[in-house]
Amino acid sequence: MPDLDCILLNADKWKWVLRDGYPLLKVQCPRCDCWGDVIDHTIADSGTIDPSVMCGEGCGWHAMVMLKQFHRIIRQEPPNA
Ligand SMILES: [Zn+2]
Repeated sequence: MPDLDCILLNADKWKWVLRDGYPLLKVQCPRCDCWGDVIDHTIADSGTIDPSVMCGEGCGWHAMVMLKQFHRIIRQEPPNA
């Protein structure tokens, strides 16, 4: 595997969304600006995502990613659950 760039993503380039009441991390591709889901990855408290991240739209972007100002959200129960 070629050496990958290590990218620091600003806080406006990543976000949590809720899907079926579960937190889902989304990151914005710095090359094509699309938002992709980060699934089957672990995220350290430092914000480092493991393993590397690829563009959700297939533009070819592929990098090691660290999230600036990373924080977790707690799972919320959906309304009326
Ligand atoms: Zn892309």
